[in-house]
Amino acid sequence: MLLLAPVAQGIEQRFPKPCAGGSIPPGRTIVNWVIIMNHKLFMAVALAAAKQACQIGEVPIGAVIVNKDNRILAVAGNRREADKDPIAHAEILAIRQAARRLGDWRLYGCKIYVTLEPCPMCAGAILQARIKTVYYGASDPKAGAFGSLIDLRRISGYNHHLEAFGGIMAKECSQILKDFFRQLR
Ligand SMILES: [Zn+2]
Repeated sequence: MLLLAPVAQGIEQRFPKPCAGGSIPPGRTIVNWVIIMNHKLFMAVALAAAKQACQIGEVPIGAVIVNKDNRILAVAGNRREADKDPIAHAEILAIRQAARRLGDWRLYGCKIYVTLEPCPMCAGAILQARIKTVYYGASDPKAGAFGSLIDLRRISGYNHHLEAFGGIMAKECSQILKDFFRQLR
């Protein structure tokens, strides 16, 4: 059963730390726990896309778009090197896939899961696509557009109530990047 709803309303709230192990931690309801496990499931798919990107020599970043019924519409990994395309970020490719699949550029009610905090270009594309919520893994101090470098949500008049929650499987999402860059050296 897939069940997913925003865990917290409001842009200031961060996603709660993922719970350890398979048991329901004290203080959480079963529904709350199922919601967390669903976020982790979709992020695990995004991580798998990041790993695939890594295997073809790309910086390992992956993205998944899920519709309001929690069906996966698109899965993509970064393809900048393969496509020789500066805008072939995982989020852009996933947005294109999802729009093609829906036959509409408006991805109303959709959510995007990304292993790394989106850059300003991707955050702009997410806004343009009318995506409702962004869930990301690791923060990106160099280029993150949801609070790290800039916060696009704070630019008044330039958002449609986009929510963003970071820190989902952050350790795994940043480890894969660290491993990639270490191996390059
Ligand atoms: Zn980007």
